Amino acid sequence: MPDRIPLVAGNWKMNGLRADGIALARDIAARAAAPHRCDLLVCPPATLLAAVGAALAGSGVALGGQDCHAAPSGAFTGSTSAEMLKDAGCSHVIVGHSERRHGLGESDSDVRAKASAAWRAGLIAIVCVGEMQAEREAGRAVAVVSSQLAGSVPEGATADRLVVAYEPVWAIGTGLTPTTADIVEMHAAIRGRIPAGARILYGGSVNPRNAAEILALPEVGGALVGGASLKAEDFWAIAAACG
Ligand code: PEP
Repeated sequence: MPDRIPLVAGNWKMNGLRADGIALARDIAARAAAPHRCDLLVCPPATLLAAVGAALAGSGVALGGQDCHAAPSGAFTGSTSAEMLKDAGCSHVIVGHSERRHGLGESDSDVRAKASAAWRAGLIAIVCVGEMQAEREAGRAVAVVSSQLAGSVPEGATADRLVVAYEPVWAIGTGLTPTTADIVEMHAAIRGRIPAGARILYGGSVNPRNAAEILALPEVGGALVGGASLKAEDFWAIAAACG
């Protein structure tokens, strides 16, 4: 399979009211009219999907959800199904983000069910994996991530509907990043466990200063960006770092 261009995805998390979200999306859409060498994806809070989708219309910037329920519909108060995300204009959904695995107790099998739901609805699943700091210090990072992949990626994965995001938990929102050697080692290990051609994103404190170095590493097929995706200038600078 030919190499894909990188994917730069912004995870806005639980940030943004309507006016801010629309302004940010419009700013990103305007910048995306310039030539760029990556695919762009924005994942706003569920409340802003419609408004952000409208602001991005025609820009080529894709829309994604931050999570989905495994069921297509039903008595699940507060949840959003993959089908609802698809209906709202999403092409992607993040599943298994560490803030859900570690903050809300989601298991590998929960993540696997959500990835299956994403595929059922016709969405691309961005399956997040990553070790805790103590696991890295104990030399168990690759083993932990391998186990997460085995438990979280459903049977039938293809390069067209699976993206893996390697996000060391200790690097998310902290300003810390692994060494480039550690990123290379982990991405190579992930590559051996997923279909050829599926993108592997790095996530964890990516910013305009470190993006070019990280994005140039072997098997790094883009970035999942949290904090820096909330400023159009920074998000665009990361996109521009794709070579
Ligand atoms: C994330 O939450 O997916 C993330 C990578 O956050 P940050 O870029 O802020 O570390």
